Order: sequence, then C-alpha cells, then structure tokens
Amino acid sequence: MQDYHSLIAGKWVKSSKKLKIENPANQKIIGYLYDVGSQGAKKAIEAAHNAFPNWSGNTAKYRSDILKKWYSLIKKNKKEISKIITLESGKPLKESEAEVEYGASFIEWFAEQSLRVSGEIFNSPDIKKKMMTIKQPIGVVSAITPWNFPLAMVTRKTSAAMACGCTVVLKPSELTPITSIKLAELALKAGVPPGVLNVVNGNPKIIGKSLSTHPFVKKITFTGSTLVGKLLMRNASNTVKSVSLELGGNAPFVVFDDSNLENAVNGLIDSKFRNAGQTCISANRVFVQESVEKKFLDLLINKIESLKIGDGMKNSDIGPLINTKAILKLKSHIKDALKKGANLLCGGSVSTVGELFFQPTVLSNITSKMMAFNNENFGPLVPIILFKNDESLIKMCNDTSYGLAAYFYSQNSKRIWNISEKLEFGMVGVNTGKISTYLNPFGGFKESGIGREGSTDGLEAFLEKKYISWDQN
Ligand code: ADP
Repeated sequence: MQDYHSLIAGKWVKSSKKLKIENPANQKIIGYLYDVGSQGAKKAIEAAHNAFPNWSGNTAKYRSDILKKWYSLIKKNKKEISKIITLESGKPLKESEAEVEYGASFIEWFAEQSLRVSGEIFNSPDIKKKMMTIKQPIGVVSAITPWNFPLAMVTRKTSAAMACGCTVVLKPSELTPITSIKLAELALKAGVPPGVLNVVNGNPKIIGKSLSTHPFVKKITFTGSTLVGKLLMRNASNTVKSVSLELGGNAPFVVFDDSNLENAVNGLIDSKFRNAGQTCISANRVFVQESVEKKFLDLLINKIESLKIGDGMKNSDIGPLINTKAILKLKSHIKDALKKGANLLCGGSVSTVGELFFQPTVLSNITSKMMAFNNENFGPLVPIILFKNDESLIKMCNDTSYGLAAYFYSQNSKRIWNISEKLEFGMVGVNTGKISTYLNPFGGFKESGIGREGSTDGLEAFLEKKYISWDQN
C-alpha cells in the first residue's frame, strides 16, 4: 500500500499520523495519507513566504515557461493521472480524462495571460505629476480544494496564483489527495522552485485554521461548501485577507414549451449526471413548462434507462457517490419529498451494483417546501417542478440563497434575453448543459461565492493594483 506525504519547501515531509484513502467504488483502501497537522501547515506557509521574493521578483516569462512545462507534463501523463482521479473520486474514466484536459487548459491559459498583465499611465490633472498603476502579486496564497474535481480545482487556483508571482500552500481534499500529490511531483519536475507550491495534507479543520489565520497568508482561495466558505471568511477577517470563494449551488434547469426537447434532455443528462450529480453546477431543480411535461419526461426516462451504472474503471456512465454521508443525504431528500407529496417516476434507492451507487432518480410534483428544492442534492436525483409562465418561473428559480449556475432551453430570442437577464446566477447556459472552460469567468452570485476563476478575472484575483503618484520636481 502506498504512503502519501506533504510537500513543504520542495521536500516530501513524513509524519506519524495517517488517514485512509478509499476507492468509493469498492471501499478498498488505496493508500495512506500522512497528516502534517498545524505544525506542517505553518512550515509550509513559512516556506511559501521565503520563496515569494525570488518567484515574484523574476519575470512573467520565466514563470510562464515553467508553467508551460508543467502543462506539457500533465498532458503527457494523462492516462496515469486519469486513473488516479477515477480511483480516488469514483468518476467514470472518460470524465477523468476530460478533467485532465480541462484542468491542464487553465495552466496553459494563465501561463499565456500572465505575459499580458500590465498597468496604466493616466493623463495627470497636475502637469508636474505622473500618475500610474502597476499590478503586483498579492503574496502567499492558501488554496483549499474539494474532492469532486481533484485536478481541475487545483490547477484553476494554483496556476493562476503562480503565474502572477504568488507562492501557494495547497490543501487538497483528504478524500482525493493523490491527484494533487502527482501534480506537485510534476510541478517539481517542470522546475517550480522549492516553496513556490507546497501541498499540506491532513485534518481539514486543523490545517484549515492555520491556512486561514496565519498573518503571512494574504489570500484564501476556496472551493467547497458554503458552510466552510463562511467559516474561512470569518477567519480571514481578523487579518483582512482577500478571499475568493466558489461555494454551493442550486442550479435551475428550465425546459420551455418552445425548446428542442431532445436537446434539452441531452443537456440535462450532461449537467445532471456528470460525476453522478456531484458538481456544484449540476442541475438541481428541473422546471418544465406544463404543456411539454409528458413528452419531456418520456424522453428523459428513456434516456436515463440507457445509462450504465458501475465502477468508473469499467466504462460506466454513472459511478459511485463519494461516501455514505452523500448516500444518506440523498435518501433523506427523497424520503422528505415523498412524504410531502412527490411522485417517484424512476430509481429511488441504492443500486445493486454496490453500496455507494445510487440509481438515477426522477421525482415529480416537487414544491418549494421540500429539501430537494432547497438544498444541493449532490447526487443523481432529478426533481421536476411544473410551471405555467415566465414570471412565476423566474420567481421560483431565484427563490434560493444560492446563485451559481442556471440553464434553460428555448428557441425564442426575446425570451432568451429576458430570462438570461433576470436569472440571479453567475453563469447561465442557454440551450447547453456544458458551460465550463478556461475562458469563462466561473463564479456565483449570493451565497454561492465571491470572485471569479478562469478567464482574465482569474489572474486579477491574485494581483494587487498599486497607484504611483510621481512628482517630477
Ligand atoms: P464538500 O462537501 O464539497 O467536500 P467541504 O467544504 O467539506 O465541501 O470541503 C471542501 C474542502 O474544504 C476540502 O479540502 C475539505 O478538506 C476542506 N475543509 C473541510 N472543513 C474545513 C474547515 N473547517 N476548514 C478548512 N477547510 C475545510
């Protein structure tokens, strides 16, 4: 059984306390993760602090060339990394392969974009003065990432930070740490200097406390639950650290009467069943206009029946949920909905494939009083809500404290513009269930987060703008 350690100041650091890493498809132990605790976190922050002057003091081109090497090494090792992702997260291998491509694309993008970071020179109102701004890296960054995209969430944060000249302490999810460890090995191979990228593993509460309170840390970038995001924000407030948060979602997926229903079903399958529904932008509430209910549901259930549930290594479409907690949550949402009057159209229970595999489930007659409407289901559950007109629909869509992603299908251009404007969500998919690329600003409104990742905004999150007023006398 392999042991996995933390990377601090360019060295793999051992410790005595270990956690099990399990394959969710069969609960077999695939390795042991050694917990470096708060002492390890502190050492990693100090290492990042010490590495900052040289890394930030070098040219953008120097950093960009190293990041491009990292990108190439990840692409070269795609097969091995994809297998690691599937083993520790459970997602189907084809999705892991897509994640490697998607995750690597951030490194290439930020390596290129960082060459274009620039300041401004203004027309000064005072003839003797020159006024300008320059952009500088914010400093040491704490990055905390979730289990569901063990590669892409890491590269989206770390490559943007490193491209700007920041140094990083990464705490990956303890459920899926091996991918990060592999990424860090490749980063060292690519020439990332010691201390620029540190990886600390172990108990999230203890390590998270150090990463969010240490005065050397200038920025926290986090993807995960709203609960933990709020806690980190509170911790950050003591030393006024900058925060970027990508938190939970409650995405509406709307099927209007004028939509292409085949496309809508395919889009819903993409959005809902990727990673067995365990993504923050998964469709969480499906609104169907009354007149197309029957046709849409027939098409949907037909399509769902063709999906193969099974071990991600064995060419399946839907893998396991991550752990028993996820199964219990989904079961409680279904039980609550059925008790309050929902109808079960298919699925509804754990699959015979294994104890963490859940059948794709469709519930109709969902109302805003149900847990499945108000909470992230994070599983292969499709809650159907019928609607009559655009006004009542918008009200229901926005009736949530979340605001990450929303999707709708329509062929009517006036409606497309109107609905896009009125949805209180950071990202809107029109006639598509796939919205994520390196190019789009990824992030949410309301309690779904603060800031944007990817796109040109992704670099701004790690840069400070400095104003210089220069009296030439
Ligand atoms: P999810 O439900 O998506 O796993 P979490 O917010 O629990 O969301 O986890 C996301 C990341 O936050 C993981 O790396 C996890 O280890 C970490 N985490 C969990 N609890 C805390 C905490 N109290 N402080 C800091 N990080 C935490």
